[in-house]
Amino acid sequence: MLETGHIDYDHIPSDEIKEIQYRNLSWQLEHAYNNSPFYNRLYKKLDIYPSDLKSIGDITSLPSISREDLSENNFEFLAVPRDKVADVSRTSGTTGNSIYVYLSHKDLRHACWLCARQYVSLGVEGWGAGLALLLPADELINPSLAQEIAFRDMMGLPFYRIGAISRDKQLKYLQDLAPGSVDATPSSLLTLGEFIKSKGIDPRSLNILRAHLLGQPLYGAGWKPLVLKTKLEELWGCEVISAYGTTELFSGNIECSAHAGHHIPHESVLVEIIDPDTGKPLPPGMSGEVVITTLYREAMPLIRYRTKDISWLEIGPCACGATTPRVMAVLGRKDDFLKIKGTGMFPGDLENSIMKVDGITGYLIKAYIDESGQELVEIIIASGLEPETIVSRVKAQVKADTMVTPKVTVDSMEAVNAQVFSPGSRKPRRFHDLRKR
Ligand SMILES: [Zn+2]
Repeated sequence: MLETGHIDYDHIPSDEIKEIQYRNLSWQLEHAYNNSPFYNRLYKKLDIYPSDLKSIGDITSLPSISREDLSENNFEFLAVPRDKVADVSRTSGTTGNSIYVYLSHKDLRHACWLCARQYVSLGVEGWGAGLALLLPADELINPSLAQEIAFRDMMGLPFYRIGAISRDKQLKYLQDLAPGSVDATPSSLLTLGEFIKSKGIDPRSLNILRAHLLGQPLYGAGWKPLVLKTKLEELWGCEVISAYGTTELFSGNIECSAHAGHHIPHESVLVEIIDPDTGKPLPPGMSGEVVITTLYREAMPLIRYRTKDISWLEIGPCACGATTPRVMAVLGRKDDFLKIKGTGMFPGDLENSIMKVDGITGYLIKAYIDESGQELVEIIIASGLEPETIVSRVKAQVKADTMVTPKVTVDSMEAVNAQVFSPGSRKPRRFHDLRKR
């Protein structure tokens, strides 16, 4: 079983961590093989036995698993009896059917420990008078459970479950409770800040010191901050902390005090970057698909799980002093990659350009394939400005950033929002991919 003990994993030399990773992976593999029907069947079929693994480098000889594998065989991933399950989360289902993510009591305690360890490394004082949750906390969509226990029970700080409710109510609770930090998605915090400003209140007067943000990238290629991050910092006057994680992994990986990438707790999670087309491992610094392996998971082990996220890994000591590897900017999801007039890009690149243009009240991006088989994007803008003015501004900005002139049209805010906030969806969906239908 996982070695936790009292080792300072964040500063351990890389050769020592490899031994620990190997022992933990050996346990994880053995556990999955013996207890999860999915892994047992997969490995038997491929004639793989846990004892075949001789070093951590041998992980690349194991098959990768996809989101589809997990979705289609969800219950077969379970590696503990149901009465040993402590909690279940589900993915929000924006990119397919929801996946249930099971945690045992040990898994949950471990995730809380990882969470507290990362939060403390940022300096306890930075969290101020506690953390206010502005994310959903119902319907099994619960990104905050480990944070809540880490904050309240391990760090001894208040944790306020405000939730993803109306902006009026969120403002009132922030004013009444005066937390020092918030936990939100970047776009919801931007919308809330703009709403507060429209009420004649400066969001900075709420004295939020730190915003812990997940669900959307805040950095782009070269770890360059996106416009979204800059806008949030200006609006709230706070430190913005980016987190990278997936519901499937459950534990988050957050930025350090040096803001130099998302640190991975390497004794508990192994990250590989592979070529999304060939599956071949890629070296640090090269962009590819993020593949994660849990080294501690009891209830639902993930062994070489392909996230579809495109990013790159930095290794070696960070400016913050930690030796843990870092997942850098998530450039986009593999399936969303666009090739417009020979230029490759992600929808996030277009969104970053759109956000630079003033006067936009809503937007939507559609990708489709025309009669000649060419990929096309259409950007639909809602704005109070003259249609010709906003269209030419958006076209010019996107052209300047990506070298591509997109099709830009204008619609009412109601019409745009009706597509962005579709009924039954918990997340705004600004990118509509019509290429696969
Ligand atoms: Zn660091």
